[in-house]
Amino acid sequence: MTSEPRNLAPMDATPVEKHRHAVGAVDSLDSLERCPLMPNYGTPSVQFNRGDGAYLWDSNGNQYLDFLSGLAVTSLGHAHPAVAAAIADQATRLLHVSNLYATEHNGVVATMLDELIGDGSPAGGQVFFCNSGAEANEAAIKLARRYGGHGRHTVVCAYQSFHGRTLATLAATGQPAKWEVFQPLPEGFKHVVWNDLAELEAVLDDTVAAIFLEPVQGEGGVNPATIEYFQGVERLCRERDILFMVDEVQTGLARTGRWFGFQHFGVSPDVISMAKALGNGMPIGACWAKADVAASFKQGDHATTYGGQPLATAAARAVLQTMKAIDAPALARRAGEQITESLRALPQVTDVRGLGMLLAVELDGLDARAVAAECLRRGLVVNGVTDSALRLAPPLIVDESHIAEATDLLRSVLSESS
Ligand SMILES: *Cc1c(COP(=O)(O)O)cnc(C)c1O
Repeated sequence: MTSEPRNLAPMDATPVEKHRHAVGAVDSLDSLERCPLMPNYGTPSVQFNRGDGAYLWDSNGNQYLDFLSGLAVTSLGHAHPAVAAAIADQATRLLHVSNLYATEHNGVVATMLDELIGDGSPAGGQVFFCNSGAEANEAAIKLARRYGGHGRHTVVCAYQSFHGRTLATLAATGQPAKWEVFQPLPEGFKHVVWNDLAELEAVLDDTVAAIFLEPVQGEGGVNPATIEYFQGVERLCRERDILFMVDEVQTGLARTGRWFGFQHFGVSPDVISMAKALGNGMPIGACWAKADVAASFKQGDHATTYGGQPLATAAARAVLQTMKAIDAPALARRAGEQITESLRALPQVTDVRGLGMLLAVELDGLDARAVAAECLRRGLVVNGVTDSALRLAPPLIVDESHIAEATDLLRSVLSESS
């Protein structure tokens, strides 16, 4: 692979020009005055048509090394044969019958998740399946309210957290800039400074039903919790019968080098939400809770049309089987160490933080988003997670040659940008 700039639309192209460029010469789009998609994602500069393992190809046939995996979604790489086969096979047999009836895979996947949460032995929980991270968190929030009862409904979250874009998960998200324009938001959320146990303790009044935290804040800049913090949170929760809920949507399923991020901290949360890597790109989310907590949901309290449907759970089953077979957490630990070591050696890199394969690369005085855009032009997919840091969430299956390739490309982009 070369690091020649890709044939992307010029920076000053209009949104319509960029979109046409990205999708190629498509007649129907050429005749449009404006992009047919809502502007909430900005204008993409590239259209990806195919993926295989750690690589992607755009509509002009250019190859890219994908060190972002969607956003920590395609942990097994693109077009994984076992996942593709499971989806293709299921698609020929049964897609949907509603949750009024049992289907083939969801009990199996729930049992597998419970064992991974128990790190090899059953953790004693139950699972609700849904379609996304935000929905998994909605389920967690509703469960906390049901568990707490009337008057005991507050969910305490951290600043810089990210829990989703629905109104309730946006209210849980500790980034006022993301929710200010959507007020009024649902009530019942409080925010505290990340990794500060004293401040957390100070807000715990009689209305608090749950504390809800990410083991590593992903969207908020890749900020890991400290062991003291998570252990202190668990102690406070036990003392006051408050639920300890963790958002593992980004950190779950081997990404951090353990099956779940909380397992780094020696705690046992009451409620765990997950999504991204669970389907390797097939939309699926899950909310796990200890059985006595799950029992707060009575029949009819919560539901979803598509959650747990056979196509998604067939994919998840193949994902979990594959991850176990290849010992995905060990791969993430090893590759994460190699990437960290390799990038720390670059002169413009001041720090690499994170856990396993969820990493932020802090740059010395460079605009991370401009660097990410230049990486894309040269064929490396990463993103700017803050003004000064790149986020790397490579597929867990990358080998030394992929790491060397990414490092070489980043080295040249950084040296030319500084
Ligand atoms: C991505 C993410 C979500 C939201 O997931 P969606 O599938 O986009 O709804 C929630 N929490 C965390 C920690 C995430 O990284």
